[in-house]
Amino acid sequence: MQQYDIVVVGGGMVGAAIACGFAMQQRKVAMIDPSTPTEFDPKANPDLRLSAFSLGSEQLLRELGAWPLIEKMRLTPYKGLQTWEAGQTDKLKFDSHEVGQDHLGYMIENRIVQLALWQRCQELGVTILPWRDWQLTQEQTHATIAYQQQKINALLVVGTDGANSAVREQMGLGITGWDYRQRCLSINVKFAKAPERITWQEFYPTGPRALLPLFDDYGTLIWYDQSARIKSLQRLNASALKTQIQAAFPALESDFELLDWANFALVRRHVHHYFKGRVVLAGDSAHTIHPLAGQGVNIGFKDVAALLRVFNSHPLTQPFEALLTKYQRQRKADNLLMQSAMDLFYKGFSHPHPLIKTARRAGIIFAQNAGVFKTKALRYALGIN
Ligand SMILES: Cc1cc2nc3c(=O)[nH]c(=O)nc-3n(C[C@H](O)[C@H](O)[C@H](O)COP(=O)(O)OP(=O)(O)OC[C@H]3O[C@@H](n4cnc5c(N)ncnc54)[C@H](O)[C@@H]3O)c2cc1C
Repeated sequence: MQQYDIVVVGGGMVGAAIACGFAMQQRKVAMIDPSTPTEFDPKANPDLRLSAFSLGSEQLLRELGAWPLIEKMRLTPYKGLQTWEAGQTDKLKFDSHEVGQDHLGYMIENRIVQLALWQRCQELGVTILPWRDWQLTQEQTHATIAYQQQKINALLVVGTDGANSAVREQMGLGITGWDYRQRCLSINVKFAKAPERITWQEFYPTGPRALLPLFDDYGTLIWYDQSARIKSLQRLNASALKTQIQAAFPALESDFELLDWANFALVRRHVHHYFKGRVVLAGDSAHTIHPLAGQGVNIGFKDVAALLRVFNSHPLTQPFEALLTKYQRQRKADNLLMQSAMDLFYKGFSHPHPLIKTARRAGIIFAQNAGVFKTKALRYALGIN
């Protein structure tokens, strides 16, 4: 039976970052994931699964040694962020110079970040196990993961196997959550003229519509709407969908070619307890958030930083419940705050009542001129507070 200090279950962006971080603390680490990310092809169109990474996430990826590997593949810095209500001229605008930075963050395909972290895991000697349908049990002194005829032991197991976490399920760590009864359609396009490096979001009563600028002439459009509407858009052919997009995204300044599109459910979840015994959760296994402000993986990376920090140089043979309690205390409150802020933002912008519409307009004008408060809010969202 193989013995590890730490077994990370789920090698997505969050899990692979945790595996690297613990390996850098000289721990013996294994990472279980049945899916290996496919190799990067510089000539390929952008992936549909991409995220806006904050400056705080960039900092963590630099510390883990993954950033130079990402830079060798591809990433798109963006320097501005704008949001406004459809039909209104007042806009809330953020510029990187307001916080003394050249950019506010980066658009990067999730797979590129994952590939860079997997490469770092290999360099750091993390054992990667392509297991599916394993069973997790734990005793006073260790946890055991059994797969077919094999078994491994660990002093600590980290569950990072995503929104439908089997670790969470097997440990009976209950969640609270709800479906927003909305979906989003993510659409990759190639513009005739490259868009500015500004990401924007226009709010409609049915949900926001956004542009994420990508490398070269590429971009991603995100269309939030009622589930039935999104599903019917998904079924259209390219030319019919393009006609719908042209009507729905009046702020687009350039013609475009449609590349591909897919739709995603929007579900908020938050686990009641972040740990049980020797098993702890992080990333989407512990919480999922409305993606409208692109914070999901960024708060997952804050979990990573907190977990690595509380365990730094602590021998795992010593009791560590107090460390997991500290991790939970730090991350639960912060994740809940971010989830609630997203809901407030989403509901505030989609409510049709005329009084709320007036308050919304006043709010945009106030926020645009809020000076130091605006800068503080921006620094928090960028993870550099
Ligand atoms: C439409 C959309 C847009 C988004 N945009 C942004 C954005 O702009 N910015 C942002 O910060 N976030 C964004 N997010 C959220 C972000 O994608 C997630 O928060 C992030 O991918 C979570 O990473 P993770 O590693 O926790 O989980 P995942 O990415 O889900 O990774 C889970 C890993 O576990 C593995 N796994 C699954 N089951 C098992 C198992 N049984 N055993 C072992 N391994 C298993 C999987 O193969 C996978 O590798 C968006 C989400 C959506 C839906």
